[in-house]
Amino acid sequence: MRYSKSFIYTLKEDQKEAAIVSHNLLLRGGFIVKLASGIYNYLPLGLRVLKKVSDIVRDEMNKAGAIEILMAAIQPAELWKESGRWNDYGKELLRIKDRGDRDFVFGPTHEEVVTDIVRRFAKSYKNLPVNLYQIQTKFRDELRPRFGLMRGREFIMKDAYSFDKDEAGMDISYEKMRKAYNNIFARCGLNFRSVEADTGSIGGKDSEEFMVLSKTGEDEIVICDSCNYASNVERADSIVNDESGQEQELKLIPTPNKQTIKDVCEFLNANPEFSAKALVYENEKGEVFCFFVEGDDELNMVKAMRATDSIELNMVDDEKLKELGLEKGYIGPVNFPNKSMKIICDRRITKRNTLVVGANKENYHYIGAKFGRDFDCEVADLRVVKEHEICPRCKKGHLKKVRGIEVGHIFKLGQKYSKAMNATFLDENGKSVPYFMGCYGIGIGRTAQAAIEQSHDEDGIIWPITIAPYEVEIVSLDTRNKELVEFCDSLHEELEKAGIEVLYDDRDERAGVKLNDMDLIGIPLRVIVGKKSFDGGNVELSLRRDKKRWVVKKQDTIAEIKKTLKKLYDEIEEARNG
Ligand code: ATP
Ligand code: MG
Repeated sequence: MRYSKSFIYTLKEDQKEAAIVSHNLLLRGGFIVKLASGIYNYLPLGLRVLKKVSDIVRDEMNKAGAIEILMAAIQPAELWKESGRWNDYGKELLRIKDRGDRDFVFGPTHEEVVTDIVRRFAKSYKNLPVNLYQIQTKFRDELRPRFGLMRGREFIMKDAYSFDKDEAGMDISYEKMRKAYNNIFARCGLNFRSVEADTGSIGGKDSEEFMVLSKTGEDEIVICDSCNYASNVERADSIVNDESGQEQELKLIPTPNKQTIKDVCEFLNANPEFSAKALVYENEKGEVFCFFVEGDDELNMVKAMRATDSIELNMVDDEKLKELGLEKGYIGPVNFPNKSMKIICDRRITKRNTLVVGANKENYHYIGAKFGRDFDCEVADLRVVKEHEICPRCKKGHLKKVRGIEVGHIFKLGQKYSKAMNATFLDENGKSVPYFMGCYGIGIGRTAQAAIEQSHDEDGIIWPITIAPYEVEIVSLDTRNKELVEFCDSLHEELEKAGIEVLYDDRDERAGVKLNDMDLIGIPLRVIVGKKSFDGGNVELSLRRDKKRWVVKKQDTIAEIKKTLKKLYDEIEEARNG
């Protein structure tokens, strides 16, 4: 492709709308252009990268035995009512009406549609297992669209859905997808990890997320320094000090104007690990909950939602607290004043023999409170684990927190959707059984962008060879020298003939402009043809990642390019196997 005939427009200035490097580089490099909040157009370079990622995904899906289909993006509300998600999905679901006032949604995911397809055709156990996938545009009306393709509203996803006749089959299908996912992200040249994950609104049993490790990732991950335990902090567990402490008598103590648990503990000279703080939240159904976690623990919102079967939890304001009969700053589980509210304590609290807690009375706290003796409540794991706590798996390593970008997510759904939608097959005994399902997603655009987040320098993108928009760039630094131009033209032609993806910068521009654009766009291998070395019978090659130039005889250029490309592909292959 000749640059002069292409549609590539780079931008010199950093883009204000971009809060992270990869977003800025996608915009500046002319890969994407914004249409509306969270909605982007893919320009030729961006589309080439998307295709590269999609091709890898497709190849691995096919190898794992999944079958490609393409489902409709617009889905009738009836299916969502059947699954129950018409009510449960929340505000991310874009609901639309047709001219006949019938309800539709723009698909944020396709469990309903695919289940409807499979139940029509795969009516016998003999038709199973089957795994159907597609690569398609989704829409989710995200609360905070940001970071370009990372958290868009419209985005491209690969979603696969497996159907099995029993749980053992489902486990095998899941395992195949897990392997395929590891291959995909390794082939994309990413440094990633799979972590245990919460199943969220999609529901189900086991689930793992594939995380590209990056400081700017939106997810926090907990990893063990001694075994392979890795979990999204949303569901991570740990072993912590669960000393029970000396049992004491319950005593009411004045704590004038001490409202935060920190102040109270300081004032009483108490260890915050032996205190409980209250957090009051209301869910989307209007149910109100009072959670108690230890004084220096943080409430884990995902665990709290899980414990209360909520899809949204909002902290209640002071006015609402009053309405509920609760005394701000002094809320405690002993003699809890609101009998209709559910109170839920973190497990750790219930293990202590003595606790400092609010007395539900202004300027007073209790000391010596004990679960079971002085108060009762539901018990759940509600806390955010902290660094340095002990690993729950190997029971000896220490936990560390790192950040990641979730590029893929695999779930065992079990019979959640098939039961709700009455999607069944006939088993060996002629009995109707709901399918055992799994679902498996990859954000195509997010994966491409995550690669940039992980691989760039101050001048621009450094694409891994496998997903680069082009493999090679020819930069002609003198467009007036007839011989040099002829050489570049024929090199361009020869490379294209050899099936090598090449961008040929034939523009009549200053060398500085061309070299800057080349750095920004990030094509892995470049051939620089300048007058001086050309007159000496040579050209220069360099890799984008270190920009070190080496000299090659003109006639050896193609062989050297092929050799270098092979080396780049081999590196990725080695990383995948190692
Ligand atoms: P997140 O927690 O980031 O919102 P999710 O758990 O909602 O992700 P899934 O429903 O599992 O995501 O979707 C599968 C994949 O689709 C994700 O792993 C991610 O790569 C991609 N994805 C999800 N939401 C978006 C989005 N708003 N923009 C771009 N890609 C997305
Ligand atoms: Mg989401």
